[in-house]
Amino acid sequence: MRLQPVALALFLALPTADAAATWIEPSHRHQGGLQLNNGHGYPILRWLRDSAVEAFFGKRLKDGDLENAETNPDIAMKHRDDIVLRFNATTFEEKRILAEITKEFQVLDIWTISHEYVDARLFHAERFMPALLKMLPDSLKKPEILIYDLPSAIWATFPEKTSKGFGSSSLSVRTSREGMGNLFFKDYQRLSVITSWMRLLEAMFPSFTEMTSIGKSFEGRDIHAFRVGARDEEEAEGGSRKTILVTGGLHGREWISTSTVTYLMWSMITAYDKDPMVAKLLDEFDIIFIPILNPDGYEYTWQTDRLWRKSRQETNTEHCPGMDLDHAFGYEWATNNNAGPCSESYGGDSPFHAIEASELAHWARNQTTQRGVKFVGFLDLHSYSQQILFPYSYTCATQPPNLETLMELGVGLAKAIRLSSGEAYTVTSACEGAVAYRSKDNSDGSRERMEGGGGSAIDWFYHELGAKYSYQLKLRDTGSYGFLLPPNHIVPTGEEVLNALKYFGDFLLGNNGIEKVSFESPKSPKSPSAGQWRDLKRRR
Ligand SMILES: [Zn+2]
Repeated sequence: MRLQPVALALFLALPTADAAATWIEPSHRHQGGLQLNNGHGYPILRWLRDSAVEAFFGKRLKDGDLENAETNPDIAMKHRDDIVLRFNATTFEEKRILAEITKEFQVLDIWTISHEYVDARLFHAERFMPALLKMLPDSLKKPEILIYDLPSAIWATFPEKTSKGFGSSSLSVRTSREGMGNLFFKDYQRLSVITSWMRLLEAMFPSFTEMTSIGKSFEGRDIHAFRVGARDEEEAEGGSRKTILVTGGLHGREWISTSTVTYLMWSMITAYDKDPMVAKLLDEFDIIFIPILNPDGYEYTWQTDRLWRKSRQETNTEHCPGMDLDHAFGYEWATNNNAGPCSESYGGDSPFHAIEASELAHWARNQTTQRGVKFVGFLDLHSYSQQILFPYSYTCATQPPNLETLMELGVGLAKAIRLSSGEAYTVTSACEGAVAYRSKDNSDGSRERMEGGGGSAIDWFYHELGAKYSYQLKLRDTGSYGFLLPPNHIVPTGEEVLNALKYFGDFLLGNNGIEKVSFESPKSPKSPSAGQWRDLKRRR
């Protein structure tokens, strides 16, 4: 399969047509750093992309078409009184108190929990800080302030027309030259832009891509999936394929998860011709990318509240809409899953009450029964804290049957990331994410928890669908920006996770486990050529 140069030129130039239409101009922002040309200075490029958009979609989006969807300039000021704090909470008792305050008083929004600390946004800091400090034990009375100026941090994640310093010091890590050159990845993109961009990709690479809707969100938006796979003629009619599923955007505010899924998608397509490892992977596997599983929540973060996490589905409590999609799946849903509708981790009133989780599960099951799809791997991208988590999430008391292989591959993914960018990701069981310590009187290995882990997506895909290599990846960073990771991290994060995805594929291709998966394999993987082996070895 050869890419036509003209097609590639169009492809590289095109996405900015849509992106430009939605850029907003925060008036108060400091405009420093390297100025990047956004394409307007190159009439030929602009003509190419305008023509191509019109050829594929009819009339091009005009600025005015998106006016109603413009970002509300007050979106950042909404949180002007809030601050983000880091509590050095290490004991169960410390974490329990924080959890209780969060539940009872609703002045904290927990951002992340690790063994060493708990990050949380404090609402109306001036008003609630004194009361909060009174409730805390002495050991927690001096929290570190992670983000003091939330409005600026929020603004800094939105696109602007004049570019910020792309290529600045934070990009000193090894990055893909093509990724840097593609303006689509210069900024986070809106739902409508990502949808147009995916349609365009499908139109330009029809022989090995397919875009579908897996269902509708609560507010009626399509949840799009994008399949990439190089099938031969026999397989073209949708024959049985081993498939890796990559999802992002389960939580609205985790924009880096969505941008990373689009980066992986784009990289796999454009590397097919150049990278034997990617070619081999796409010859053997389909990869299905779902960049935004929670389109209502994602859109809400662009229009109303940048820090929204859940879906937008109605609940039985009028002023507390939304469900946590990562607590909404049907496997062990009830375990540790008792948060009410106002909680950020509310997983609905019953398994699959949350429509988006239900649509994904329904679609995935249909893929296996109607198309013969065999889900062998699942990567669910989130942020933040740089962690690679494997099943089970709902409990630490039960170990997954292929625990050692999950750990081995998890460590391999972390290594691939570290070799790519130097960033350290920790590898652990998902159940550990919210665990304080092993309770002394508990000899069966179960642990006390700060937050429930039932109904997670990785547990469901692992246990119910047989995706033996299921991971949740919590991407950058480790707290400097948290969910408000500036856009100059899009390419470096995409690049390091691309290396992890290649390692993932390499692992599966190398029979490092694929034969141990109890699927009736339709054909054994072909042996890599000498050149491919060389390539694989070099990358190890
Ligand atoms: Zn998340």
